[in-house]
Amino acid sequence: MMKLNIPDYIQAIAPYVPGKPLESLEREYGICDSVKLASNENPLGPSPKALAAIQNSLAMLHRYPDGAGHCLTEKIAAVNGIAPENVVIGNGSDDIIALLIRALVRPGDRVVVPKPSFLMYDISANAAGAVVDSIPLKDLSMDLDGMAARVDADTRLVFICNPNNPTGTVISREAFEAFMERLPEGVVVVVDEAYIEFARDPGCLKTGQPMDLKRPIVTLRTFSKVYGLAGLRVGYGIMPAALAEVIHRVRQPFNVNSMAQAAAVAALDDTDFLEKSVDLVHRGLETLYAGLDALGLAYHKTETNFFLIDMDRSAAEVFEKMLRKGVIVRSMQSYGFPTCIRINVGLEHENQRFMKALESVIQA
Ligand SMILES: *Cc1c(COP(=O)(O)O)cnc(C)c1O
Repeated sequence: MMKLNIPDYIQAIAPYVPGKPLESLEREYGICDSVKLASNENPLGPSPKALAAIQNSLAMLHRYPDGAGHCLTEKIAAVNGIAPENVVIGNGSDDIIALLIRALVRPGDRVVVPKPSFLMYDISANAAGAVVDSIPLKDLSMDLDGMAARVDADTRLVFICNPNNPTGTVISREAFEAFMERLPEGVVVVVDEAYIEFARDPGCLKTGQPMDLKRPIVTLRTFSKVYGLAGLRVGYGIMPAALAEVIHRVRQPFNVNSMAQAAAVAALDDTDFLEKSVDLVHRGLETLYAGLDALGLAYHKTETNFFLIDMDRSAAEVFEKMLRKGVIVRSMQSYGFPTCIRINVGLEHENQRFMKALESVIQA
């Protein structure tokens, strides 16, 4: 027998369970024409401008990517009104999460995260041997008081997910500023804004521009959601230049591939596509809410492209039954909502297909 010497803190990690891919559903159930509403992806597909940029980049695939990501970094800086020195690009924002932890966290250090929220904070922190302090949400929203109270001299990082996945709630700028006032020195606050483009609440916190705060913050953004480029893997962090400089030392030299760099630059220019994508989500939400009201199902209104539906029965069972009807949703059982599913807004016909399937599942 092979003996592997795995650290306890690695052995204890539960693997991330992604949304079920369309191909695997179709292979296992012999269904074609299925619909996936499980991973908060953009149902419109990638931006056409991004696709054209990828085409143009193909002939240079024998070359290494630009390790400094010059064009993309400049573009991100221009769009956000910041300096390129404040930008770090990554292989998805997952990469930036892992890099921040690699750069800042020693084994035994503490990381404060909301729960339930995006699981990669916990997984990356645990992989570094950190102690994860999970602070339960309050009324589905981040409990900033509870999080601030848990931060101590050993806390290196605090993760805020705004809007929060999987609950779709946001925090206000005032609440965030008050929270920042309470933090001791030596802690870095990460604000994950993977869905910020969808938020409509005028009081919603939006970081990424220079703010007058005493503690360093990092803003995370991704091309995986509204920009429709999840398969390419590209995201970025906005942070103090001194922290960016440290991240550059610990990242892979070519962490963002050349197609992803080219596509992301073009996607940032495709404001038409961005507007269309946001608009589709906002209109789809109205239709879905109305459909759920008609079925008498409870749901939680969202500031994102996804939301929770309380099925008042086992979510795992609903997930299974929906699969058989060719619709992939996400069971929220492992997130602590045993009766909730999470769906994202799809195309109009996908939303209709979902409503029909759901109706027959609850009537069965
Ligand atoms: C989808 C998502 C991300 C994006 O991850 P990528 O690695 O950029 O694809 C980050 N944070 C949250 C909360 C998400 O839901």
